[in-house]
Amino acid sequence: MTDTQTDTMAAIDAWLERTADERLADYVEFLRIPSIGTLSEHRDDMRRAADFLVERLNGMGVSAEVSETGGHPMVYGEWLGAPGAPTVVVYGHYDVQPVDPLDLWVRPPFEPRVENGKVYARGAADDKGQVHLHLSALRAWLETHGRLPINLKLVIEGEEESGSEHFDPWLEANAGRLGGDLVVVSDTGFYEGNKAAITIGLRGLVYAQIDVYGSEVDLHSGSYGGNVQNPANALAHIIAALKDNYGNITVPGFYDEVRPLTELDRAELARMPFDIAEFQSEHGLRDLVGEADFNPLERRGARPTLDINGIWGGFQGEGSKTIIPAHAHAKVSCRLVADMDPTRTFERLREHVLAVAPAGVKVECNLLNTGMWSLVPIDHPATVAAAACLEEVFGEPPYYLREGGSIPAAASFARVLGLPVVLLGFTNPDDRAHAPNEVMYLANYEGGARTIARYWQRLAETKF
Ligand SMILES: [Zn+2]
Repeated sequence: MTDTQTDTMAAIDAWLERTADERLADYVEFLRIPSIGTLSEHRDDMRRAADFLVERLNGMGVSAEVSETGGHPMVYGEWLGAPGAPTVVVYGHYDVQPVDPLDLWVRPPFEPRVENGKVYARGAADDKGQVHLHLSALRAWLETHGRLPINLKLVIEGEEESGSEHFDPWLEANAGRLGGDLVVVSDTGFYEGNKAAITIGLRGLVYAQIDVYGSEVDLHSGSYGGNVQNPANALAHIIAALKDNYGNITVPGFYDEVRPLTELDRAELARMPFDIAEFQSEHGLRDLVGEADFNPLERRGARPTLDINGIWGGFQGEGSKTIIPAHAHAKVSCRLVADMDPTRTFERLREHVLAVAPAGVKVECNLLNTGMWSLVPIDHPATVAAAACLEEVFGEPPYYLREGGSIPAAASFARVLGLPVVLLGFTNPDDRAHAPNEVMYLANYEGGARTIARYWQRLAETKF
């Protein structure tokens, strides 16, 4: 950083230091609003939470509005006073999970308890705390310098915890005004031991159902056995052809587009503390099984999967019933990684299922849904800048996480806006999100605000 940049950050840090109590009080006030999106009796509270954000944003000079969706509203705000500088879209959500079982909370979930540098309340971490730390970073810039170094668009959702029904339509309808260079999603957290981390990758999804039909009704296995194809046997045969015994997927072409891990990827994954024995004992896992050329962390985040999620058909009752079932079914899902195309992956799966299907049955393979993966590589300028800020604030280089699952909003941004999505979240890993006594460490909150303030500065000088 140049001297002026150092001065800029020093002024911002000093302002954050000076206003810590006042900002904490405001954060607590935000947490007092019981914005439980799934329960209709909280509809007015949802409005109040949205209004709270709009008021705060307008108050600091960011033009903001409650934007209707047909469900709980979106809060949209923008500050576009830095022509020529990059434009960043920030995502968070103001709705929270229900609070039951209530009797396990030390204090009521919407009466925040601040104790030993921790804030306990529903939403303290997921995600109102992270939304609020963005407000802190914004205010710090605007109050000390009257400007931001970049252009900013804030998208704060109210339906994240209840399925995001109106999110994609809203995003599509507003795609015109949401253009930019980068999306920053703050709804993830740090790694075990509360170590700074950036989530660089999320896996995508293909979800399908296989249906195998034989006769019109279940048949007597004595009268028909030996002459007809059994749909359950046929299904077992099909499923067996999808994977070998070592975890390799045997659908032709399945791995063709998979982006290989770079040396840097592997080195960074190897640096992460990961205790296989603990991973196993946590859920009573037996021997780990998977592609031989990859270790468990690589398999979890950087390799695709294929799993049968459910399988049914035929007789399931007590005792024995000698039938040949009329039909049999299975649900199949694949987790996808960069650069797999969900539609193409499904087509390959379907073709293979039909190709290996034995004679004497009718087989269908239908797509239920898909989700897009996202990956912003470790050496992408937006990741490099975020890592530098995290290291400056938290004193250690961050870990780079690849989540095995997905975050729907991130996938939607990637799909609708086609922008890189950086997942930069600050919650402590023991935040008990969705559970009683949810907690955010103030050190994470404050460090988060300082990291974000620095990030906007660094991005101003970043070429995309
Ligand atoms: Zn969340």
